[in-house]
Formats: sequence, C-alpha cells, structure tokens
Amino acid sequence: MTDLTDKVAIVTGGTRGIGLATVTALAEAGATVVLTGRDEAVAKEAAAGVPGGRVTGVALDVTDSAAVSSTIRAVAKEHGRLDVVVANAGVLEGALVGMMKDDLVERMLSTNVAGTLYTVQAAARAMMRKKTGSIVLLASIAGEQGSAGQSAYAASKAGVTAIAKSTAKELGRYGIRVNAVAPGVIDTAMTAAMGEEAIAANVEQTPLGRLGSPEDVAKAIRFLAGDEAAFVTGQVLGVDGGLVL
Ligand code: NDP
Repeated sequence: MTDLTDKVAIVTGGTRGIGLATVTALAEAGATVVLTGRDEAVAKEAAAGVPGGRVTGVALDVTDSAAVSSTIRAVAKEHGRLDVVVANAGVLEGALVGMMKDDLVERMLSTNVAGTLYTVQAAARAMMRKKTGSIVLLASIAGEQGSAGQSAYAASKAGVTAIAKSTAKELGRYGIRVNAVAPGVIDTAMTAAMGEEAIAANVEQTPLGRLGSPEDVAKAIRFLAGDEAAFVTGQVLGVDGGLVL
C-alpha cells in the first residue's frame, strides 16, 4: 500500500463523498490531512469523524483565490511541508442548453475550473522550493464523453483535464506531479440528484455492473498521491467500472 507516513496533505471539499473518502484513505496511509469545506463547523465535524486523530477541518471556499492562497500557505507553514494536494471541491448542476441560465454557467466554471486553478497555483507555490509534491485533480467521464443536460459541468471537467496536462508540463521541472482521476458514476450526494432512473441506466451501461463507491475513487487518488506513482504525471486515470468504453 502507498505509504504516506510523515506526509502532509490537503483535500478541498473533504466534508463528504469522494473528498471525505480520500481524506480517510490518505490518513490510513499515515498522512496528516487538512480537509476543507465552505462551512467551518461542517469541516471540523467531518475531520473529527475520521479515525486516527491526524485530520483537521478548515473553512475555505475555492472560488476565493486569496483565501485559497492564504489557507494553503498557512498549512504548509504550520507543518513545515506540503506533499499532497487533492483539488476535489466541485459542483454539479444540470440544465438543457436551451434553458441554461448564466448564473449556472458561472457556478460551474468558478468552482470547478477557477477553483481548481487557484488550488493548483497555491499548491505549486508551496511545493516548488522543496522540489517535490503531488497534486491530484477531479476530472470526470463527463469531460471526456460529454453529458446531455450537463454541458456546463462537462465543459468544466474537460477544463480540469486541460489543467492537469498543462500544469504537469509546467511543474515537472520542480519535481511536482499533476494527475487527475476521471470517475464514472459514483454513489454520492452529487449523483443522488440524477434520479433513480438515470442512475439505473448508467449502471446498465457499466461493464462492472455497479455504481462506484467513494472509496473506489479514493484508492486511485491515494495511488497517484504517493511514491508508487513517482514517474506518473499528466495522466487522467479513469475510475468508472469501464463506463467510458
Ligand atoms: P459532493 O457533492 O458529495 O461533495 C462535494 C464537496 O465539494 C463537498 O465537500 C463540498 O463541501 C465541496 N465544495 C463544493 N463547492 C465548494 C466550494 N466552492 N469551495 C469549497 N468546497 C466546495 O460531490 P462528490 O463527492 O460526488 O464529488 C467530488 C468531486 O468528484 C467533484 O469535483 C465532482 O465533480 C467529481 N466527480 C464526481 C462524480 C460522481 O459521480 N459523484 C463523477 C465524476 C467526478 P461543502 O458543501 O461542505 O462546502
């Protein structure tokens, strides 16, 4: 298993779902983890629920670039290092393109694209001096295949893939790896909003014949975060039970 003993990690959007499973997986591997969510009390409560006592929760809205910068800098300063950053915070709202409102487009892009960029920027600044670090982003099968009724979300996730590849090229010289996972349909609050019929149709099309669990994705993220993936950068790892095929 990936060993993250003595490593320090940040997971944005770690209060539930894939983010919380990732926090747990990184902590199990020995990392000290800081999770973030928009509400401080919710973030602290989520952190307190992770066994091992090495997890703390802080408030952070990833659409606020100044807050992202100061929070990540403060974590690196407090612990004297920053090894892993998982830019997981994301939102999904669907609308048929003809009915889509401007503010929906704005919400998808500001959280999923700008929020991810701010997080990678702050992580890179904190990691550059030590010439080592691993950044993992949350792309999506929707960004690769498109998704009817979710064009703004799909566009934002294609953007995340572009961020992973571009910044992997840029940051390799500093020993910083940037990869993404592209989950299929995962059993979280985000997916529940799709409705039972749409979920069943997706399961039907999935060769492995089930929804993914947050832990399925977390284990792939943990692999990319650690030294077992030391020569892997700029990659998008599908965690979709074969749905993309
Ligand atoms: P959830 O809705 O269960 O969790 C989303 C997390 O993001 C929460 O912790 C939420 O925290 C946080 N968040 C949302 N907006 C912000 C913000 N502006 N600033 C900081 N945190 C924020 O989603 P999932 O666990 O399902 O998804 C996690 C990631 O995986 C997302 O990027 C999603 O797009 C991606 N993904 C999910 C798939 C799925 O099938 N579930 C498939 C493909 C990709 P809080 O509300 O406490 O602030």
